[in-house]
Amino acid sequence: MPLPLEQTTTVTVRLTALRILLGDQLSFDIATLSDLDSERDVVLMMEVQEEGTYVRHHKQKIVLVLSAMRHFAAALRERGVTVDYIELDAPGNTGALSSEVARAVARHRPERIVVTEPGEWRVKGLIDAWASLTGTPVEVRSDDRFFASHERFAGWARGRKTWRMEHFYREMRREHGLLMEGEQPAGGEWNYDAANRKRLPQRTVPPTRRRFEPDATTREVIALVEQRFPDHFGDVEPFGWPVTRAEALLALDDFIKHGLPTFGDYQDAMKAGAPFLYHALLAPALNIGLLLPREVCAAAETAFMAGAAPLNAVEGFVRQILGWREYVRGVYWTFMPDYAERNALQATRALPDLYWTGETDMRCLRDVIEGTARYAYSHHIQRLMVTGNFALLAGIAPRQIERWYLAVYADAVEWVEMPNTLGMAVFADGGQMASKPYAASGAYIHRMSDFCSGCAYDVNLKTGPRACPFNYLYWAFLIRNKRWLSGNVRLAMPYRTLTQWSREREAAVVAEAEAFLDTLGAGGKSG
Ligand SMILES: Cc1cc2nc3c(=O)[nH]c(=O)nc-3n(C[C@H](O)[C@H](O)[C@H](O)COP(=O)(O)OP(=O)(O)OC[C@H]3O[C@@H](n4cnc5c(N)ncnc54)[C@H](O)[C@@H]3O)c2cc1C
Ligand code: SF4
Repeated sequence: MPLPLEQTTTVTVRLTALRILLGDQLSFDIATLSDLDSERDVVLMMEVQEEGTYVRHHKQKIVLVLSAMRHFAAALRERGVTVDYIELDAPGNTGALSSEVARAVARHRPERIVVTEPGEWRVKGLIDAWASLTGTPVEVRSDDRFFASHERFAGWARGRKTWRMEHFYREMRREHGLLMEGEQPAGGEWNYDAANRKRLPQRTVPPTRRRFEPDATTREVIALVEQRFPDHFGDVEPFGWPVTRAEALLALDDFIKHGLPTFGDYQDAMKAGAPFLYHALLAPALNIGLLLPREVCAAAETAFMAGAAPLNAVEGFVRQILGWREYVRGVYWTFMPDYAERNALQATRALPDLYWTGETDMRCLRDVIEGTARYAYSHHIQRLMVTGNFALLAGIAPRQIERWYLAVYADAVEWVEMPNTLGMAVFADGGQMASKPYAASGAYIHRMSDFCSGCAYDVNLKTGPRACPFNYLYWAFLIRNKRWLSGNVRLAMPYRTLTQWSREREAAVVAEAEAFLDTLGAGGKSG
């Protein structure tokens, strides 16, 4: 029955929904917005100090997220959406997500809160408390930007004794029809990794990759970050990451044209002073939602069908996204929160200062850490086989190196960073992610890069003051961890070699490794 006029004027119309977008949910297609009523709903976006400081994120990572959030809010407003946007230095900003949600509920009095599941266990804990904190029902939606939901991953994992990414990946290929010829994989093979391990020829000049000049919004955020996070790791400029959907699409186009055709061949190669090579540089945009994994894989597949990129490159790229990216997310959500505390090899050494300063005579480590400080980026093999391999061999406490990786890259989000660090780089999960530790001596770095030619150490020397530290650290690692690793069939060869060593020789290598590690300042700096 319609209300009499005087009564209608006094009734306050309650908002239908307060729709909350987190900093890594900047997608127009996100579930939070799927049934948005722009007449009666408000979208809440919050910049809070707490999210910028729970680890000391690289300055460029904070600029990326804040600038992309501001641009996304502006794009929503252009589409007629009401956005309640709390800037970092807005008066009354309490600095924390939950207290900002409580303030917004008091302002808008919504009937319900709608949010998409977060990418981090810590934030899930916050969201779980919002209903009781605000007295408002909270609807948490599944993040359908991924290929596999949590239920789909659990369905794959159920009943399996050992988990291997490759098995999951093949199932995903079939399910999503990517690079398939009927029931068979394109070209007859599922995996072309063996073709993707070439060293970069010395004279090859990698292409100049597209970067994006900061606009007025990004400039404002750069100034804010300099002022609010002055002691965080890394250079705030040159900042060149895409911060809008339009820029992210240009970055994708640049990769498909200039990176993808050679991505496969030189996927594992490293070159001093050249951190990007033929890599996609898309993880920052993917991880905050400016690009979607489906469209990125589709763009690569289209390039293959058009004859613009070879199969080894396209399959290698699709495997990283449809395979590894989805797989590590499954590992993270299956094993958290205990996963964060795994330390299968009982490693306890404090993270050396050189991870923050880059001050070391080891050219490979110095180059990768300097590149990280300058661009908030290094590519996968630099992360895995230089900084990760060193942390593994040196026995650095997993939680300390994990927090380092979370802090230093523009693309670092815990659900993807943590399994890559604890599982892949330092074997702290005891083999959940990888069938053997990615431990390597200097020979690997020498084979895949040009670092060794300009290094103070000699990669061909195994012991002595000029010997490449990776060489004796590698053997000391195997000796130190014999009780856990000697039964691993994939390490049978080096352990067989060790049976020919005398106890004195083993002790000498361990002592040399310990003496070297003791020269590294540890733990003093934190970025
Ligand atoms: C110790 C360590 C920490 C890492 N931390 C992160 C992180 O915080 N965030 C992150 O996105 N990736 C992380 N990775 C995975 C990988 O190194 C980066 O995704 C990649 O270097 C990003 O650069 P790119 O976009 O140029 O990727 P490319 O090498 O060109 O690969 C294409 C895309 O595939 C995906 N991808 C590639 N390798 C992986 C992988 N192992 N796991 C998940 N996705 C992958 C990424 O989305 C990437 O954009 C980490 C790897 C290691 C070894
Ligand atoms: S010699 Fe050893 S420390 Fe130097 S760049 Fe080569 S691998 Fe790195």
